Amino acid sequence: MAINQGLVLTCAKCSTKNFLDPYPFWNFSGNTKCAGCDAIYAVTFVKGQLTSGPTAGSGKADLLPGYAEDKTGAGIGGDKIRPAPQSRPDPFSGKQKHVKQSLRGKPLSGSPLKKEDLVGSRPKFIIDSRK
Ligand SMILES: [Zn+2]
Repeated sequence: MAINQGLVLTCAKCSTKNFLDPYPFWNFSGNTKCAGCDAIYAVTFVKGQLTSGPTAGSGKADLLPGYAEDKTGAGIGGDKIRPAPQSRPDPFSGKQKHVKQSLRGKPLSGSPLKKEDLVGSRPKFIIDSRK
């Protein structure tokens, strides 16, 4: 039996911790899939509270976990989890708007960057602006 942990679903079969992130799972009824062993779990959340499940289900997953860790704590990525939400496309061009400055005029990294624009994982122009 799985442990009732609300928005964290620990798989009964492989002990993978599947993080069911609050926004998409807040009011949700359907299947999710363990990122470790592909087991299907039926869950129901109402206002972020688990009201039914997790019970072993069958079929396909309606929504994948936002993040998962195996029993050693190593992150599981790839197509086992749902990609992070991206900025919404502009309704006219269908492409994301590129933002380089916040409303307060501070530099912001909101556009595609190349490797040479970065220092480690930080954009160079942001580091320069703080010197
Ligand atoms: Zn599993």
